[in-house]
Amino acid sequence: MKRWSFHGGVELPGHKQKSTTRPVESAPLPKQLILPLSQHLGAPAEPVVNVGDKVQKGEMIAKPGGFVSAPVHASSSGIVTAIEELPVPHPSGLYAPCITIKTDGKDTWLNREQQTDYRQLEPALIRERIREAGIVGLGGAGFPAFIKLNPGKTVKTLILNGAECEPYITSDDMLMRERADEIVQGLLIMQRAVQALHCIIAIEDNKPQAAQAMQAALQQIGTVDTGIVIVPARYPAGGEKQLIKVVTGQEVPSGGLPIQVGVVCQNIATAAAIYRAVYRGEPLLSRYVTITGSAVAEPRNLEVLIGTPVRDLLDSCGTDFTHLQEVIMGGPMMGIALADHEVPLVKTGNCLLALKQGEIELHPTVVPCIRCGNCADVCPVNLLPQQLYWHARSRDFDKTQEYDLFDCIECGCCAYVCPSNIPLVHYYRFAKSEIRSQQEQKRKADIARERHEKREQRLAREKAERAARHARKKPGTDDETKKAAIQAALERARASKPGTPPDDV
Ligand code: SF4
Ligand code: SF4
Repeated sequence: MKRWSFHGGVELPGHKQKSTTRPVESAPLPKQLILPLSQHLGAPAEPVVNVGDKVQKGEMIAKPGGFVSAPVHASSSGIVTAIEELPVPHPSGLYAPCITIKTDGKDTWLNREQQTDYRQLEPALIRERIREAGIVGLGGAGFPAFIKLNPGKTVKTLILNGAECEPYITSDDMLMRERADEIVQGLLIMQRAVQALHCIIAIEDNKPQAAQAMQAALQQIGTVDTGIVIVPARYPAGGEKQLIKVVTGQEVPSGGLPIQVGVVCQNIATAAAIYRAVYRGEPLLSRYVTITGSAVAEPRNLEVLIGTPVRDLLDSCGTDFTHLQEVIMGGPMMGIALADHEVPLVKTGNCLLALKQGEIELHPTVVPCIRCGNCADVCPVNLLPQQLYWHARSRDFDKTQEYDLFDCIECGCCAYVCPSNIPLVHYYRFAKSEIRSQQEQKRKADIARERHEKREQRLAREKAERAARHARKKPGTDDETKKAAIQAALERARASKPGTPPDDV
């Protein structure tokens, strides 16, 4: 199949071999599971259990908190011991509401509804199953999967993203090698859900075994309208818009969505989770996770229950805590440095990268920008990172938006090549969060103003009504005078809000 290329990007050392030398095993069952209510984009889930409740594996313990949300399920059986704020994976060491389950070691499943053939299910029912299973984009975005599978427009191409372009991460690679049939079945389910005309599985050229396994699964299952495209290993080829460009040649417009060019893109791990949800009735309870880095004695991939404490996982792979400098959830380019090792593994956590002291310079000396233009050369979105930096630094947020700040995918290519060591992405994140917070403040202020205006209107109307009643009752007043008094009262009410007469006149 034909391939195109995207602007910029960088070639990075892969560091992927060490964690792919042995088959994936299940991580030991932890003593406790910590399940944050917000592991997805959108509203946090709302608990439906209480402290002291017994729960079974697969039981929903928190329901979606809105349309854009996802439920949370017990990853193993046990007792709910706490519903409280605990540290969650976030660079600031943020606390957020979590449900803690003390596991009973039995791993007892709730009854599951099995489904033998997804073709018996209507697309809407497929989406409902995916929603109920709490499946979110497992590539890192965490967007509820059922929403993407209801695009409301014709889907020409459904792309399965197996690029996995960040260094060190190999969880998707291993999943393709070991569970290719589940991924292909998941792809077919998604194809039915969105009625896609054809599908493409995109895999980077540094994963030949994965590509072979996927090809064999396609042949065995006998799909006719699905092809594999091998894409060059160039970071960030796995970015949604970059991958769409590489495999279809189409550019998703600035601020737009893939569906605008007839494409829906999902990650391969999401496809495997969808297969399990639809065929086996299993919610999203576990995922493949790469545990690697110089501080890890036995780098490998494990199948991990969502909610397992990071420390347990690092322990099980022989991590040298004495010389540990930093643990990153995700890859070195887009991952987040964990402030606390007790945080749990969440749905979007594809990798734990444990680095030894001295391996990375945490705070390199930053010098002024020399206007070399390297950052613009590598930006895969064709932005002007240097200008974004200046405007973010001077808090000129309107200007950052004029320079399409929100198109920035925070890939870190610009910072990677910056000879001045400027932490460019930090500035973009700061500007984005300031803009969002200003927008939120404005939204709240608008609501408060609207409420105040309504209240004023109501008070004026009530006053007018009282005056009108009073005028009607006043003895010795002739009809004409009463009418004039009522009219005057109503006029006063109207004047309190021009153009909006009291609604019960
Ligand atoms: S790469 Fe760094 S030094 Fe060069 S123009 Fe961009 S911000 Fe300035
Ligand atoms: S972090 Fe943003 S500005 Fe920098 S290269 Fe990536 S997309 Fe461009």
